[in-house]
This record gives sequence, C-alpha cells and structure tokens, in this order.
Amino acid sequence: MNALLFAVLLLAQDAAPPPTDAAPLTDSAPPIDSAPLSAPPANLLPRFAIARVRTRDPVVALTFDACATRKQSNGFDREVFEILKRAQIPVTVFPTGRWIETHPAEAKELAAEAWIEFGNHTYSHARMTRIPRRKAVEQIVRTEAIIAGLGRKSVAFRPPAGAWNRSVVRLAARQHLPTVEWDVVSGDAGGHIGAEKMVATVLATAKAGSIVIFHINGRGPHTKEALPDIIRGLREKGLGFVNVSDLLQRPDAQPVSARPAPFGFRPLRGKGRGPRPAKGIVDENAPT
Ligand SMILES: [Zn+2]
Repeated sequence: MNALLFAVLLLAQDAAPPPTDAAPLTDSAPPIDSAPLSAPPANLLPRFAIARVRTRDPVVALTFDACATRKQSNGFDREVFEILKRAQIPVTVFPTGRWIETHPAEAKELAAEAWIEFGNHTYSHARMTRIPRRKAVEQIVRTEAIIAGLGRKSVAFRPPAGAWNRSVVRLAARQHLPTVEWDVVSGDAGGHIGAEKMVATVLATAKAGSIVIFHINGRGPHTKEALPDIIRGLREKGLGFVNVSDLLQRPDAQPVSARPAPFGFRPLRGKGRGPRPAKGIVDENAPT
C-alpha cells in the first residue's frame, strides 16, 4: 500500500458500507501509546508502528511470521497452512528474505495462494533499531527483491522482535511500506503456552481492528492445535477475517500506535502469570 492508495481510500470514504453487525461501535480501550491518535494525512503513512486500527467494521487480521536467521532456519508449519487453506481465511505472512531462500518450494506455495498476502520481515531477522541506517535499508530492500522474485510485493513491514523507532518507520515508509506490529499476541512462539491458553488469550483480547500474531515457521508447536478453535471463536464473537492491507484500508480505519519498543519485546513465557493481554507485547524470537 502506498501513499496514493491511502489518498484514494480517504476519498472513497463516502462509499463506505455501514457496519455489518452488532459489534461495539466504540472502542473504549485506551490507546496503546500515550501519543494522541490521529488519522494519517492523506499523503503520508503513519509515523508510528501500527498495533491495530480503530474501525467499526467487525474484522481482524491474522498474521503469521516466518522468521529465519543464519543459524536458525526454522521450518514450515504445513498443518497451519492447511488449516488456513481449508478455511480460506485471508492472512498476511511476514517472511524474512532468508526464510524464503531456505524454503523456496514452500515460499512458492504461499505465493500461489490468492488468500495470502506478503509482508516484509527483514532479510536476516535483524533488530532494525540496532544496525546502521544503510544496513537497515538493505534489510528491507533485499527482502523486497526476494519477494518480487515470487511475483509478489509486500503490503507492510514488520520489524523483528517488534523493535521500532521513528527512524525505522520512516525508512520503511520510504519503501512505501507501513510498519505493522500487532495488538493480540497468540503466544505461540517457543511453545511455552499451551493451545488452550492461546485460544483463551486471543479470544479474550481480539476486537474489531485487531492484528493477531502467530508463526508459520514451526516455532509455534501448538499453533495448529489452537488455530481451529481461535477461528471458530472469533467468528462466534462476530468477527470476520481480512488481511492486513484490507484492514488498513477500511474506510474508517485509524491506525493505533504500538508501544514504543526501541529494543524490541521479549518472548512470552508460559510459567507464572501467563501471557499478558494485548498491549503490543511481542512474541517474537530474538535472532540466534
Ligand atoms: Zn520474526
């Protein structure tokens, strides 16, 4: 999505369909960031990482990261892919460039599915706030070229570990990519949290405009167990599914900033208190 598209979408507001169900029309949750919220200017992407959007449309976006680093190539969770394929739910997959290179056949499979859209998750799962600007640009551009090799183009940029600052967001925006994080953490990475807890967490925290993070690289051993109940449960809550670009393009969508996280978030752990709800807590794996 680019600035022009944003402009077109804003102009198209009059054609917006009315809300389609009885989902709450107001969002009483406090903003994740303390900064004042405002709709992005028509010709600019938001200057912050997006955690979710405010929208009256009862829809959520499920997202699946496919991280891979030099030492940890990870894999492909075919069962998750098959569950989504059977359900024909639009999703957004954020692979690293290296994951695509180490999983060429699987990457082609993803690219062949119209219900999947791609996001850019850097080349080597780098912490974008900790590397020189030139290298940060290269992380995005190199991955974009690899995604283009699949005949696709990214719709958004997701920084590894959720590590972002204004400069990272600006850098992605120059590649016409909004920086997109999440507000609902499935807690799937590392397998610290069981399927039942994952289902309960996602169902308790997802609401209209939410962005939910999962993994499709085998880093979430319980994702396949939890996903069918999550899909069913969200539907029972009256929520439908859209991919990230669609969510951002809702005519009334107002992006909500993720919490500032210059060093990224730590993965959730299952022991003790269990996952904290929403609030942009990341469930990422640091590069190893
Ligand atoms: Zn990742």
